[in-house]
Amino acid sequence: MIALIHTVLGKILSLVFPSRCAGCGKDGDIFCQKCINKTRKNPHSKVSVLFLDKLYHWGIYENEILSRALRRFKYYGAIGLADIFSDLLVKLIEPNIKDFAKNTVVLAIPASRARKKSRGYNQAELLAEKFSKKTSISYVPDVLIKSRNTVSQTSLAGRERLFNQKDSFAVANQEKIKNKKIILVDDILTTGATLSEAARALKEAGASEITGLVVAK
Ligand SMILES: [Zn+2]
Repeated sequence: MIALIHTVLGKILSLVFPSRCAGCGKDGDIFCQKCINKTRKNPHSKVSVLFLDKLYHWGIYENEILSRALRRFKYYGAIGLADIFSDLLVKLIEPNIKDFAKNTVVLAIPASRARKKSRGYNQAELLAEKFSKKTSISYVPDVLIKSRNTVSQTSLAGRERLFNQKDSFAVANQEKIKNKKIILVDDILTTGATLSEAARALKEAGASEITGLVVAK
């Protein structure tokens, strides 16, 4: 219900303020270049997540501008930000795009049906679709499936999050990912439990290599 109110409120706000920067609030763009430039990641930060072969992240969630924009994207219906965030994901992969030239598919971390229904969209899917169009790496939406409803991660502490995610993904249409490289897209990496569990399910189903791709960690 709260999520629904957020989504409706977001839609109303986006009608009232059609193009205010999610970072600084200035009129014009939904996320201005000046703010985007302030969200670049610390290039020396290294993260390792179990079952992931590589992980790319644009920025860190502690960056106030980036977290504000991501919240607007995830909870308040600002789906126009998908275009901007997917550009950032493309920029991250671009130097190594040749690694993904062949035999690679793009997947999104799925949302539970209930959550997608209450928000009206899944932000990770929006990112994956846009990323796929911009890179011509095919997106397969019907492979990774949320196998049971988990409690919203933000309401749980670290250890509970790991437990909560256990066995929460299933893989359908295995032939679409067998022996393939996968780029697994999500908006935010928190403890890494979600990406890790999804990657584990995909590897068990025969995926050869998994690269995590997120806007912020
Ligand atoms: Zn701005």
